Amino acid sequence: MDICKGYQYGTTPCESTILFENGYCYRHQDQAPGGMLEWTPERLKAVIAAHGGPERVNLADVDLPGLHLYRFGLQRVCLVSANLKGAYLRSVNLQQANLAHTQLDGADLADVDLQGADMLSSSMRSCKITFSNLADALLADADLQGSTLSNTKLQGAELVDAKLQGANLSHANLQDTDLTHANLQGADLRYADLREVDLRDLREGGLLDTRWCHARLDRTLLSKRQLGRKIGDEQAGEYREARDAYLALKQNFEDLGDYDVSSWAYIKERRRYCQMLWISFHGVCPWSSHSQRIDYAAFKTSCSPLGKLTPA
Ligand SMILES: [Zn+2]
Repeated sequence: MDICKGYQYGTTPCESTILFENGYCYRHQDQAPGGMLEWTPERLKAVIAAHGGPERVNLADVDLPGLHLYRFGLQRVCLVSANLKGAYLRSVNLQQANLAHTQLDGADLADVDLQGADMLSSSMRSCKITFSNLADALLADADLQGSTLSNTKLQGAELVDAKLQGANLSHANLQDTDLTHANLQGADLRYADLREVDLRDLREGGLLDTRWCHARLDRTLLSKRQLGRKIGDEQAGEYREARDAYLALKQNFEDLGDYDVSSWAYIKERRRYCQMLWISFHGVCPWSSHSQRIDYAAFKTSCSPLGKLTPA
């Protein structure tokens, strides 16, 4: 493999392998007589071919914000500490790639295959990672705040210390994930597959304001304290969705043998049902006026959890 013609610190010959056809590594492109070569998908393809496959290309520390690649084979490539902010990487194959400490904020990673990739401490805020494969990926200490991960496979992913505040995980599969010390505050877990997921060791407050409507729960380990007084669906005033969510939580706690919490979820479910009925009859929220509040108090008694479930 040819060695870069450039110099480190002005005098020490660089020992990195060349990346481009001009005989210089990525870091010393500015020393090339013909000037710096720009990245294009065609040039990247040539680099991969010259190195005998993406797994032999070292792209550590590359500074390529906004890189635009579509359906590209970059499996097992090394992109450690690269700057790929705002990159468009749709349908790119990054299986088992090394993306540790990579900057990917705002990147489009839809339909990307990141199975088994190393994304330790990578910054991935506000990314689009829909319909992607992150199964068995290492995402420890990754920052995924505000990212959309809907319909993404995360089975077996290591999410220890991951920051998932405000992330959209709807329809995502989180089975067998390790979420120790992760933070899911304000996350959207609607329709997410959380069967047998252990959520007990999240960060303090790491499940507050989360949305649960139609989440797939089965022996999902969590506590009432983690949910706070109201789940996110209820806070959003989505009573029908909140009712479905409490019903699923009730069943889950019952299956875990935690009957006290199951009763709490049942009462919450009945109350949301009551609110739902009221709104469907009156078209307004029970708290929209003083008289509504008084009427609703009486109505609530008639459909309380222990009383009749339909209005008198
Ligand atoms: Zn060099």
